[in-house]
Amino acid sequence: MSRYFTDKFASLTPYTPGEQPRDMQYVKLNTNESPFPPSPAVAAAVAAECGKLQLYSDPESTALRAKLAEVYGVKPTQVLVSNGSDEALNFAFMAFADTHSPLAFPDITYGFYPVFAELNHIPYTQIPLKEDFSIDPADYMAIGKTVVIANPNAPTGLCLPLAEIEKIVKSNPDNVVIVDEAYVDFGGESAVKLVDSYENLLVIQTFSKSRSMAGARLGFAIGSEQLIADLNTLRYSTNPYNVNRMTEFAGVAALEEDDYYKQNAQTIMANRRWTIEQLERLGFTVLPSKANFLFAKSDRIHGEKLYKELKARGVLVRHFTKERIAPFVRITIGTMAQMEKLIETIKDILEASL
Ligand SMILES: *Cc1c(COP(=O)(O)O)cnc(C)c1O
Repeated sequence: MSRYFTDKFASLTPYTPGEQPRDMQYVKLNTNESPFPPSPAVAAAVAAECGKLQLYSDPESTALRAKLAEVYGVKPTQVLVSNGSDEALNFAFMAFADTHSPLAFPDITYGFYPVFAELNHIPYTQIPLKEDFSIDPADYMAIGKTVVIANPNAPTGLCLPLAEIEKIVKSNPDNVVIVDEAYVDFGGESAVKLVDSYENLLVIQTFSKSRSMAGARLGFAIGSEQLIADLNTLRYSTNPYNVNRMTEFAGVAALEEDDYYKQNAQTIMANRRWTIEQLERLGFTVLPSKANFLFAKSDRIHGEKLYKELKARGVLVRHFTKERIAPFVRITIGTMAQMEKLIETIKDILEASL
């Protein structure tokens, strides 16, 4: 730390992204990326915009917001687009939480929530998950705090039924409830259909996972016009050109070929079923995932050891050191070939440690 770094941020612990090692070719199952390339129209859209890079992007991302509004059945004024959904989450924390309206989120969830809270000096309560790692909706009823729930949750993959989300939203009319739906396309039910009924509901999604565009950095928020206007106040106060022109039109192209990603999501779900079955056959406990990853543990090998042994054999998964989830590894669902390699490698590891 330099002696110039302000006290305001000196104690900040930044988010740790999943590792992106360059030392060898891994079967990369650690950051929940899609194993499939973006839809074919995306590359052409990006190429067309490359020739116009001397021009700023549209600060309103008009074309992309219009397309998102059409696909999700809302008005363009109910849509904000962002540089990855992480940016939308940060704006939402800044806009709707402070000492008078502190944050509440599960103790085991997306690691960025406490970081954004600390960055913005927002007090927060971490509510323990139940014994089975699910969220207890009762914990959030009439809580009087700004609620953030990833649904499906990460890294558990577990999903709350939409009716439970609705009860949480309904019981907290004086606070915003943020539903982070980064993984909703892999079998969850979106809360977008409720945004016209509840002015305090903000739904955040991303193109990073199901739409195969993690490297493009594109996310979006859908809510009431008033909530979106507040987010825009922050966006125009930080970076009005937050979505670059290549990404904007890559997004439009992806939405025009929406069947492509839906097909891929079906493939991921089928590969997920196969992988769960194989892991269970090997004695693993696997949480019932509605996401493009599995959270699994074995009585025969600790999560950290399994992570290390897999890495040594060229398969990358994610391990978290937090005590309650340390026995687990989080495994991104990839292609069948990748899943077969994973299972073969786990078999080798288990046999070698007998
Ligand atoms: C991956 C992820 C995000 C956001 O990713 P972006 O790439 O910034 O859109 C948000 N929330 C959760 C729970 C995620 O896993």
